[in-house]
Amino acid sequence: TQKLISPLNYLQYMFKYIQKASVDIEKMFDIMDEKPEVFDRPEAVDFHCRAGKIEFKNVSFSFKPGRPVLSNLNFVVEPGKTLAIVGPTGAGKSTVIRLLFRFYDVMAGEILFDNQNITTVKQRSLRRYIGVVPQDTVLFNDSIRFNIRYGRIDATDDEVDAAAKAADVHDAILGFAEGYDTKVGERGLKLSGGEKQRIAIARTILKAPKFVFLDEATSALDTNTERNIQASLQQATSALDTNTERNIQASLQQVCAGRTTVVIAHRLSTVIAADEILVLRKGSIVERGKHKDLLEQKGLYHNMWMQQLTPDKHEASDSGNE
Ligand code: ATP
Repeated sequence: TQKLISPLNYLQYMFKYIQKASVDIEKMFDIMDEKPEVFDRPEAVDFHCRAGKIEFKNVSFSFKPGRPVLSNLNFVVEPGKTLAIVGPTGAGKSTVIRLLFRFYDVMAGEILFDNQNITTVKQRSLRRYIGVVPQDTVLFNDSIRFNIRYGRIDATDDEVDAAAKAADVHDAILGFAEGYDTKVGERGLKLSGGEKQRIAIARTILKAPKFVFLDEATSALDTNTERNIQASLQQATSALDTNTERNIQASLQQVCAGRTTVVIAHRLSTVIAADEILVLRKGSIVERGKHKDLLEQKGLYHNMWMQQLTPDKHEASDSGNE
């Protein structure tokens, strides 16, 4: 009997383990094919979540010696505030988010969460408080309900519905043949980029984390819609005629409200609302401040937005994406 019992025990153990692990953010990255590279130190202690402050102190990082990816970065995100990171491709924006998630350890300097060095705490104890909305959300081959509940597996159906409503995806879900029971993922119904990101937002709303790291989807962004908004903002005209964008904005605000947020920003609406914007180039902060101040500086930030405002030059590449 011993032979029979132990595999059963093992299975039971594995089941519990899988169930527990399924709420972990590491799994999110697993399914995105990104393996964490660092492990807890033997002397690591539990993270104590307080107000929710994040700090980068003289942080430098490189993948290869002699080729710095981030050089001496300093910033503070006060509790509940939003830091937006912008910059050209390869500037190091995603690397900042990866370091915040301790995918890698820094070469110099330190990253502090509520004044605790990220390398001294147990990763799981910190990640409990972190929600991630990645650029491309990979959904499980399971129901929509399962995919949202993944944010907090003990959530009730009502809580799942409420999160979907807050993420403005509830009505879309009810429009699918089997509603919340509709199977999605590779083998199920294919959702649009925007719908997938809303599912990720609903998930994160359900998790209600202290810290949110968000990589705004460029693919889910309707370039024309964004242009319309820019045009209307520029002309200071009346109401925006773009429900979609307004709703996405609203759901992004829902997920970030009251949480300490670091966002790789592609949307004008996000940078306008950000408490601070960092402009990264080649791993260094070249400009920082609020949207209005940065525009007035007429530097890199200003140039980047001017490029967006003159879409004609970019028509060819834009139409390829749409
Ligand atoms: P994008 O806007 O294109 O996403 P980014 O600003 O997010 O760019 P990162 O992805 O942070 O830029 O990359 C910064 C630099 O680090 C780039 O030069 C990139 O080639 C390099 N890099 C990123 N990941 C790795 C890796 N795993 N190994 C080696 N180099 C890497």
